[in-house]
Amino acid sequence: MKFINLTRRTEIGANCYYLSSGEQGVVLDCGMHPKEEGEMALPLLAALAGRPVDALLLSHAHLDHVGSLPVLMRQQPQARIFMTEPTAAIGDALLHNSVNVMTREREEVGVIYPLFTHRETDRATDRWQHCPLDQPFTVDGERSPARPDNELSFEFREAGHVLGAAGILLRAEGRTVFYTGDVNFDDLTLLKGAVFPESGIDVLIIETTRGDSPLPEGYSRAAEERRFAEAIGRAFARGGCVLVPVFALGKTQELLAMLYKFKRAKWIEDVPIYIGGLSSKMTEIYDRRANNTPRVLPRLQLFPEVAPFVLNGKTIADAPARPGRIYALSSGMMTPKTLSNIFARRVLDRPEHSILFVGYSDPESPAGVLRKAQPNELISLDEDEPARPFRCHLEQFQFSAHASRESILEYIKKVAPKKVVLVHGDPRAVEWTRAATAAALPETEVIVPLPGMEIEL
Ligand SMILES: [Zn+2]
Ligand SMILES: [Zn+2]
Repeated sequence: MKFINLTRRTEIGANCYYLSSGEQGVVLDCGMHPKEEGEMALPLLAALAGRPVDALLLSHAHLDHVGSLPVLMRQQPQARIFMTEPTAAIGDALLHNSVNVMTREREEVGVIYPLFTHRETDRATDRWQHCPLDQPFTVDGERSPARPDNELSFEFREAGHVLGAAGILLRAEGRTVFYTGDVNFDDLTLLKGAVFPESGIDVLIIETTRGDSPLPEGYSRAAEERRFAEAIGRAFARGGCVLVPVFALGKTQELLAMLYKFKRAKWIEDVPIYIGGLSSKMTEIYDRRANNTPRVLPRLQLFPEVAPFVLNGKTIADAPARPGRIYALSSGMMTPKTLSNIFARRVLDRPEHSILFVGYSDPESPAGVLRKAQPNELISLDEDEPARPFRCHLEQFQFSAHASRESILEYIKKVAPKKVVLVHGDPRAVEWTRAATAAALPETEVIVPLPGMEIEL
């Protein structure tokens, strides 16, 4: 089997990989780089020229995995497209939102924007085929018993990362390759942890997102939730509000579930909560699938139970920072012009308010800059707006939807594959995982795939 890493660098960016066996080939994920623009935001799709592409397999619907799919579909019209049903529902909403964002940016970036249109997205999503978990399919989309000795087949396995996320088990040439996509092994507040195969895997292609950050000593999610609830309480006691910058997909729903628990346990008062428009769409998608997806709280309907108010690009302009309220707004990175960025300007220089971070931010993003700021430092969150002194409270919490590096290593050791291919991590994260795997499994070949280079698996 052959494998090509189609990302442009060793990093988490436009995640995309190619795998072939004989005359059959598949593309695993097709993301868009969150920090690049125009064609540089796309994976190295030119490397697919002259190679068979029978199917495009999607692990989940975060933009770094699905964002360039309409472009790839345009280039590979013969390929069938497979994903889980929740991933299709989320991907549809996210890609349309992405067209809106690209259209807004068109004047800055130039003539090729948007990279695809609403109409093209509609035509693309019509062709997506939904696959249930734990069922083998051929690349033609036929349900098949596992046929390890002849044609290429695939199977989705629950990955626990966001709703619909799946690892992809591929079989061909009598061998088994498992691509984890993004994975979380432990239960979150709302979603259950991954159910991944632990034996019979020859090649493991695994994410390394958190390879550069050790789990804090004595960390437990329950204790972190308590600490978070107390920070909210302190902001209210000061007469302030709480801004939590979150991703629309995944983190928003986990946060709403947490706030539901906090209110029930009387850890916080029954205060108004605000979320953004895209987040509300994602929350509806979660609610509709509450009963038939693996959930810790299967009966919890977030919208009716938590009853968040919804802000959008227009209403945010007139939304003051009111005391005793929680604003869970996207984007998580506080990208300029997004709700969390706009709202933060009302909070930043007021000592009674709090900004609470609950996940990862890119160090160069406005959220990353703010997290490193010193008190009273002048901070510019958007270069089109005046800088403001940083005077509000700021605290950070660890509610990642990615497996810790310790549990990634534990999983690699359990599987003990012949080869491990390390992807979806910054160079230092990949390097930690490489060294740790090599030390733990001296018989295993550890591969860091160079972008665009074909390797034999
Ligand atoms: Zn993801
Ligand atoms: Zn990812």
